[in-house]
Amino acid sequence: MGVSNYMLQGAKKTLIEWLRQQGITDENVLHAFDVVERHKFIENTLLWNRAYENTPLPIACGQTISQPITVAFQSQILQIKEGDQVLEIGTGSGFQAAILATMGARVFTIERQLELFRKTRILLNNTLKIKNVFMNYGDGFEGLPDKAPFDKIIVTCGAPNVPAALLNQLKVGGIMVIPVGDGVQQMHRIIKTAENEFQAETFGEFKFVPMLQKTVKLNP
Ligand code: SAH
Repeated sequence: MGVSNYMLQGAKKTLIEWLRQQGITDENVLHAFDVVERHKFIENTLLWNRAYENTPLPIACGQTISQPITVAFQSQILQIKEGDQVLEIGTGSGFQAAILATMGARVFTIERQLELFRKTRILLNNTLKIKNVFMNYGDGFEGLPDKAPFDKIIVTCGAPNVPAALLNQLKVGGIMVIPVGDGVQQMHRIIKTAENEFQAETFGEFKFVPMLQKTVKLNP
C-alpha cells in the first residue's frame, strides 16, 4: 500500500516549519513549498514517503532532485520579485523551476539530458499544468541568448567555473546564484553592478551533481 495523502500533507507542514527554523524567512519561498508538492516530482512512487525529508532523491538519467533546504536557500538569496525573468540551468525534476514560477517568476530552464527534458516537460505542462515555466533542451554553459537579458540566473548543478555567457546574459542590477567547485561547491551570489562589473559573495558549502558540457541524447 502506498503512503497516504494525509501523511504526505503532514510531512510537508513539518518540512516547512523546519525550513523556517533553518533561516528561510522569505514567506514567498515558504508559501511556494506549501503549494508545490515535492512528491509529484519524484517518478518512483516508492520514494514518496521520503519526499519531505531534507534529502536529495534519485530522478531519471542518474540525476537527483536537490535537497529541500538547498532549493529554499537558493530561492531566498535570489530575491525573487513578481515578474522576474529567470534563467535556470539544470531543469532536472522541474521542482526548483515550479517553486520559482509559484513565487511569481517567469522561468526559462535548460536541461542537457534529452530523456529528462522530455519527462519533465510532460510533467509540468500536461500533468501539473504549471504556468510560466518554459523548457529548453540544450547546454546551460551557453545560456539562452534569445531570451536574454535575465533579472536572475540560478544554476542548480555544480559548476567548474562561472560561465562567461551567463554573466553576459544577466541584466545590470541582476543576480546570479551559482554553486562553484569540483565535488563540493561554494554557493556564490554574483550581482552585476555595471556592464562588466560584478560583486560576489559566498554562502558556504553545498553538494550538487556536476554541470557538464554538451547535451546527451540517450542514456548510455
Ligand atoms: N533543479 C533540479 C536539479 C536537478 S540536478 C531539480 O529541482 O530537480 C541538476 C540537473 O542539471 C541535472 O538534471 C543535470 O542533467 C543538469 N545539468 C548538468 N549540466 C548541465 C548543463 N550544462 N546544461 C543544462 N543542464 C545541466
